[in-house]
Amino acid sequence: MRTSFAFIVAVSAALVAGSASAQNAEGAKVITECAGHPNALGVARVVEIDTTGGPGFGFEHFKAYDFLRDKEVVLTFDDGPWPGHTPMVLKALADHCTKALFFPIGKHAGWHPEILKQVAAAGHTIGSHTWSHKDLSNKKLTEEDAKAEIEKGISAVSVALGGKPIAPFIRFPALRHPPEMVKYVGSRNIAMFSTDIDSFDFKARKPEPVIETVMKKLDKRGKGIILMHDFQGSTALAIGPLLDRLHAGGYKVVQIKGKEALKSLPEFDEIAKKEIGGGVENARPMSSVIKTISE
Ligand SMILES: [Zn+2]
Repeated sequence: MRTSFAFIVAVSAALVAGSASAQNAEGAKVITECAGHPNALGVARVVEIDTTGGPGFGFEHFKAYDFLRDKEVVLTFDDGPWPGHTPMVLKALADHCTKALFFPIGKHAGWHPEILKQVAAAGHTIGSHTWSHKDLSNKKLTEEDAKAEIEKGISAVSVALGGKPIAPFIRFPALRHPPEMVKYVGSRNIAMFSTDIDSFDFKARKPEPVIETVMKKLDKRGKGIILMHDFQGSTALAIGPLLDRLHAGGYKVVQIKGKEALKSLPEFDEIAKKEIGGGVENARPMSSVIKTISE
């Protein structure tokens, strides 16, 4: 059932390249041309989400906002950043001049801030996926523990990006949404992302099943938010051919942006910094600090 979503998902008015509004100038525009890649997906539409009250998206769990049009997809990647795999995903996305939504794990962001900075530099949207990927519905976790998992995850991603605010989007580990935490992220005005099309890439050893699973579900459903993992080798190999298949199938990519950035909480920034270790926040891109001069 289609629900009125206009009040919450506002299609960015300034979609024409070159006329993007000032605060959204970076990346918030449709991309119709991709130098050297005539068959690129680009970005067909940019949508901005007003995350007040913590709306949920992805029909596997949340059915209130059916905002995608026929043949539209949103590309989402969880559990990174990860050496080798995340850069492969970034390369495939760049080859199609298209944009995705990433949900990094806080710990991984702390281990590989350089890779996460590459994700940000490429103009992708970055939300969070908790600190250590615990199932927040596990009864052994207290409510305070679960909140700390969420907030430390947000802080770690922000710290890894040099203290920048991140997008007000979260994906719960294993797509488990305990009611208390749904309420909590609502109070923080963070939108929750479930999925429409689960790639099950974590079960795949090779790229082919990932591509077939996504295309089969997509051709049946006609559109959707696709869940993949830049952490997974299967997806790192699948994503290039999958994007080719999406283009050939007439699918269009929608990029998601938050209306307001999400500010991490200072007390959790301190905790995250301590656990991550020193020097991350002010680090320059690695290539400008270290280069091989002989080998
Ligand atoms: Zn995950």
